[in-house]
Amino acid sequence: MKDFEILKEQCIHEVTRLGIKLGTISSWSINTRAKTRWGLCKLNHDGSYSIEIASRLLEDDRISEQACKETIIHELLHTCKGCMRHTGKWKYYAEVVNQVYGYNIKRVTQGQEKGVENYEGSEMSIKYVFTCGSCGATIYRKRDSKFTRNYRYYGCARCGAVAWSKKTVS
Ligand SMILES: [Zn+2]
Ligand SMILES: [Zn+2]
Repeated sequence: MKDFEILKEQCIHEVTRLGIKLGTISSWSINTRAKTRWGLCKLNHDGSYSIEIASRLLEDDRISEQACKETIIHELLHTCKGCMRHTGKWKYYAEVVNQVYGYNIKRVTQGQEKGVENYEGSEMSIKYVFTCGSCGATIYRKRDSKFTRNYRYYGCARCGAVAWSKKTVS
C-alpha cells in the first residue's frame, strides 16, 4: 500500500518547483469503485478543483509509485489555468514534467469529457525498468518509446550520467 499523502505532497512539490502554478484544490478523494479510470479532476462552481484517485493505484503493488504519481500529476496539471483539456498548456506542462523527472504522463485519447477520462486500464503494468549505473535512479516504462529504444544516449535527470541499463519485465 502506497502512502497517498506522501506521494501527493511529492507531486505538488515537484510540479510547483518548476514554476507551474496550480489551481486551488478543495478536495482529494480516493475512489474505491473506479474500474476504468485512474484519476479525475473536476472543476467546481467556485472555481476550485476536486481530484479523485483510484484506490487501485495505491493498493496494487504491481503499480509503481512512479505510475501512481504520473496519475496524480496528470490530474494536478488540469488545475492550472487553461488546462482542463489535454492540449495546449496542459500538454506543454506534461512534457516539461516528463522531461525533468523522467515521467511518462500522457493525455488520453478516448472517453473523455470535461475533466473525465478513461485511461487505458490494461496498459498500467510496467514493461521496462531502467537503472542509472551511476546514481542508482530508476525509471519505469509501461510501453515502448524513444527513450526505451535509445536509452543508451539519454542522460540521467538526477546525476547527468549516461549510464542506463535496461531490464525487461515479463
Ligand atoms: Zn486528463
Ligand atoms: Zn543517475
